[in-house]
Amino acid sequence: MDQHERKRQAARGRQVRSELAERGVVALATTWVDNSGVTRVKAVPIQRVEYAAAWGIGASPVFDGFLPDDAIVAGRYAGGPVGDLRLHPDLTRVTVLAEQPGWAWAPAVRYQQDGAVHPQDQRSVARAAVAALGEAGYAARMAFEVEWTLSTTEPDFTPAASGPAYGYTRLVERSDYLRDLLVALDGQGIPVDQIHPEYGSAQYEISVANEDPVGAADTFVLVRETIRALSMRYGLRASFSPKVVADGVGNGGHVHVSLWRDEVNLFSAGSQRCGMGKEAEAFTAGVLAHLPALLAIGAPSPASYLRLVPSHWAGPFQVWGLENREAALRLIAGSPGNPAAANLELKAFDQSANPYLVVAGLLHTGMAGIAAAAELPDPVNIDPASLPAESQARLRLPTSLQAATDAFEADEVLTKALGETLAGTIVDLRRAEVARFADASPDEIVAAARWRY
Ligand code: GLU
Ligand code: MG
Repeated sequence: MDQHERKRQAARGRQVRSELAERGVVALATTWVDNSGVTRVKAVPIQRVEYAAAWGIGASPVFDGFLPDDAIVAGRYAGGPVGDLRLHPDLTRVTVLAEQPGWAWAPAVRYQQDGAVHPQDQRSVARAAVAALGEAGYAARMAFEVEWTLSTTEPDFTPAASGPAYGYTRLVERSDYLRDLLVALDGQGIPVDQIHPEYGSAQYEISVANEDPVGAADTFVLVRETIRALSMRYGLRASFSPKVVADGVGNGGHVHVSLWRDEVNLFSAGSQRCGMGKEAEAFTAGVLAHLPALLAIGAPSPASYLRLVPSHWAGPFQVWGLENREAALRLIAGSPGNPAAANLELKAFDQSANPYLVVAGLLHTGMAGIAAAAELPDPVNIDPASLPAESQARLRLPTSLQAATDAFEADEVLTKALGETLAGTIVDLRRAEVARFADASPDEIVAAARWRY
């Protein structure tokens, strides 16, 4: 960030400040998501927005070493007490918060004090991945699905609705709440595709329109914080944790991605299997090949591995299939009404993931697939859990955070793409988390994660 850019940001900050004041906003919250998937925040009164835009808000780099329970890991490249970063609100994404009267929100970009982007700023790493994809001649669209479980109590989970899975009863029970959520998201400019009661006890799901990948990750943060604030207004608690109770299905964080060139969706315009174009197939093959390592990003919590089990629609097998909900990669063909809607759904990920790291991980492994003209194996269009035991064992994704971390550490595409310091920090954090929960029971793991995300 040079002097010229600081001036430009200050001018924009002045304008944003007066717009926010007119709308009764008192404070701007600016968030980043840490490597453990927790959304962290600093806030300023709007009188400070101009300054924050130009010079940033001080924040320690120690946050890169945070575990979900706020323990700090003194790792190789993060977690020390020394230094300071500057959080700059991205003023292109300022949103007045419908469920936090008087508050607005913007995602942060973290800079070093010398004005360079912090090498471990996950959102900037995601932006760089989008730029690299653009240089290769492609664009991506993404959307993150949000599943959440609603409780009347904390820390224990007491279902806030009793109606059946997908049951209209459960929608009626929380009719005002769900309506208010739609009103809030609409007021925040987020187009919703659909909302419904999910399979789990008191579980709901909302899906939103796709957008550019970094925008989709920002939206993912905003949607969950809106749900959280709304739930609290209703005296309820929302959990986005991979598992809320040790048995039953968990909360997924499914990611939809499509690959575009010249305004054409390459997942729908081709002659390869399921209508994919060659590059879409290669992109998918790249993601598929790197899935074990990607889990250290997309399923980064010990609780993730309690969710990622067969017959829970979590996609625990390293396979792809057309509309197969037990495949980690579910290819969704375009519908007759919307042929350009074809996309790849990554089901194995959950919401303990940092969505910016997810963007970077998916795009880089997809690009590696394109660069290698990778080809997909045959699709699996049955439940992989019905395959012979030895095939299941061969296709099963890592069943522990430790195994995923080992795969990540050995993955040259990912570690190179994220950079030595960020990749090293992720490894250090995951290993620390593995050690902390080495002797924990499923109930203990679930209880520790329940209200952290
Ligand atoms: N709740 C399931 C999960 O943990 C997903 C259900 C669905 O297919 O939407 O991913
Ligand atoms: Mg779902």
